[in-house]
Amino acid sequence: MGIGERYQTDNWRTEKHVPVIDCPDTVNADEMFEVNVTLGKEVAHPNTTEHHIAWISLYYHPDGSKFTYDLGHFEFNAHGAAVAGPNEGPAYTHHGVSTWVKLSQPGTLHATAYCNIHGLWESTKEIGVE
Ligand code: FE
Repeated sequence: MGIGERYQTDNWRTEKHVPVIDCPDTVNADEMFEVNVTLGKEVAHPNTTEHHIAWISLYYHPDGSKFTYDLGHFEFNAHGAAVAGPNEGPAYTHHGVSTWVKLSQPGTLHATAYCNIHGLWESTKEIGVE
Protein backbone atom coordinates (compact mmCIF):
# COMPACT_ATOMS: atom_id res chain seq x y z
CA MET A 1 0.00 0.00 0.00
CA GLY A 2 1.36 3.42 -0.95
CA ILE A 3 1.30 6.47 1.30
CA GLY A 4 -1.44 7.98 -0.88
CA GLU A 5 -3.84 5.34 0.36
CA ARG A 6 -3.09 6.30 3.99
CA TYR A 7 -4.72 9.70 3.57
CA GLN A 8 -8.19 9.82 5.07
CA THR A 9 -10.98 11.99 3.80
CA ASP A 10 -14.59 12.76 4.68
CA ASN A 11 -17.16 15.56 4.60
CA TRP A 12 -15.54 18.67 6.12
CA ARG A 13 -18.90 19.80 7.49
CA THR A 14 -18.97 16.88 9.92
CA GLU A 15 -15.34 15.69 10.16
CA LYS A 16 -13.00 18.13 11.90
CA HIS A 17 -9.79 16.82 10.32
CA VAL A 18 -10.58 17.57 6.69
CA PRO A 19 -8.71 20.59 5.32
CA VAL A 20 -11.04 23.12 3.72
CA ILE A 21 -9.70 24.90 0.62
CA ASP A 22 -11.18 28.37 0.15
CA CYS A 23 -10.55 30.18 -3.14
CA PRO A 24 -12.53 31.24 -6.22
CA ASP A 25 -13.96 28.40 -8.34
CA THR A 26 -12.56 30.11 -11.43
CA VAL A 27 -9.60 32.50 -11.68
CA ASN A 28 -7.95 34.53 -14.42
CA ALA A 29 -4.86 32.99 -16.02
CA ASP A 30 -1.56 34.24 -14.59
CA GLU A 31 -3.25 36.50 -12.04
CA MET A 32 -2.47 36.14 -8.34
CA PHE A 33 -5.38 35.00 -6.16
CA GLU A 34 -5.65 34.15 -2.48
CA VAL A 35 -6.03 30.59 -1.22
CA ASN A 36 -6.99 29.87 2.38
CA VAL A 37 -6.73 26.42 3.90
CA THR A 38 -8.01 25.67 7.38
CA LEU A 39 -9.53 22.87 9.41
CA GLY A 40 -12.58 22.80 11.58
CA LYS A 41 -14.59 25.37 9.69
CA GLU A 42 -17.80 23.81 11.04
CA VAL A 43 -16.46 21.44 13.70
CA ALA A 44 -13.49 22.83 15.66
CA HIS A 45 -10.32 20.79 15.98
CA PRO A 46 -8.43 21.05 19.32
CA ASN A 47 -5.17 22.96 19.53
CA THR A 48 -3.42 21.62 22.63
CA THR A 49 0.02 20.25 23.40
CA GLU A 50 -1.40 16.72 23.34
CA HIS A 51 -3.66 17.06 20.28
CA HIS A 52 -3.09 19.47 17.41
CA ILE A 53 -2.59 19.93 13.68
CA ALA A 54 1.15 19.92 12.93
CA TRP A 55 1.11 20.99 9.27
CA ILE A 56 -0.83 21.63 6.08
CA SER A 57 0.55 21.15 2.56
CA LEU A 58 -0.97 22.51 -0.64
CA TYR A 59 -0.43 21.02 -4.12
CA TYR A 60 -1.62 21.76 -7.66
CA HIS A 61 -2.21 19.23 -10.43
CA PRO A 62 -2.89 20.72 -13.89
CA ASP A 63 -5.60 18.87 -15.86
CA GLY A 64 -4.07 16.23 -18.11
CA SER A 65 -0.60 16.62 -16.63
CA LYS A 66 1.57 13.77 -15.47
CA PHE A 67 3.02 15.86 -12.64
CA THR A 68 1.84 17.50 -9.41
CA TYR A 69 3.35 20.77 -8.11
CA ASP A 70 4.05 21.59 -4.46
CA LEU A 71 2.66 25.09 -3.70
CA GLY A 72 3.66 25.28 -0.06
CA HIS A 73 4.14 23.51 3.23
CA PHE A 74 2.97 25.28 6.38
CA GLU A 75 4.02 24.14 9.86
CA PHE A 76 2.23 25.06 13.07
CA ASN A 77 4.85 24.83 15.79
CA ALA A 78 3.41 26.37 18.96
CA HIS A 79 0.85 24.33 20.91
CA GLY A 80 1.19 25.54 24.47
CA ALA A 81 4.24 23.46 25.38
CA ALA A 82 6.43 25.12 28.03
CA VAL A 83 8.86 24.41 30.84
CA ALA A 84 5.90 24.75 33.21
CA GLY A 85 4.18 21.85 31.44
CA PRO A 86 1.74 20.98 28.65
CA ASN A 87 -0.69 23.79 27.76
CA GLU A 88 1.04 26.15 30.21
CA GLY A 89 2.90 28.00 27.46
CA PRO A 90 2.08 31.50 26.22
CA ALA A 91 1.73 30.70 22.50
CA TYR A 92 -0.45 28.66 20.17
CA THR A 93 -0.31 28.62 16.34
CA HIS A 94 -3.73 28.25 14.74
CA HIS A 95 -3.98 25.62 11.96
CA GLY A 96 -4.95 27.97 9.15
CA VAL A 97 -2.95 29.38 6.25
CA SER A 98 -3.36 32.07 3.66
CA THR A 99 -1.18 32.21 0.57
CA TRP A 100 -1.22 33.63 -2.96
CA VAL A 101 -0.95 31.65 -6.17
CA LYS A 102 -1.19 32.23 -9.92
CA LEU A 103 -1.99 29.49 -12.41
CA SER A 104 -1.93 29.26 -16.19
CA GLN A 105 -4.05 26.13 -16.57
CA PRO A 106 -7.15 24.64 -14.92
CA GLY A 107 -6.57 21.76 -12.54
CA THR A 108 -7.03 20.50 -9.01
CA LEU A 109 -5.81 21.87 -5.70
CA HIS A 110 -4.95 19.19 -3.15
CA ALA A 111 -4.62 20.02 0.56
CA THR A 112 -3.17 17.58 3.06
CA ALA A 113 -3.03 17.94 6.84
CA TYR A 114 -1.46 16.02 9.69
CA CYS A 115 -3.01 15.63 13.16
CA ASN A 116 -0.43 14.41 15.69
CA ILE A 117 -2.74 11.64 16.89
CA HIS A 118 -5.28 11.16 14.08
CA GLY A 119 -2.88 10.98 11.15
CA LEU A 120 -3.08 12.12 7.56
CA TRP A 121 -6.07 13.82 5.91
CA GLU A 122 -6.74 15.29 2.50
CA SER A 123 -9.22 17.19 0.40
CA THR A 124 -9.38 18.51 -3.16
CA LYS A 125 -10.90 21.44 -5.02
CA GLU A 126 -11.12 21.77 -8.79
CA ILE A 127 -10.19 25.18 -10.08
CA GLY A 128 -11.06 26.71 -13.43
CA VAL A 129 -8.66 29.04 -15.24
CA GLU A 130 -9.83 31.31 -18.06
FE1 FE B 1 -7.13 15.18 15.74
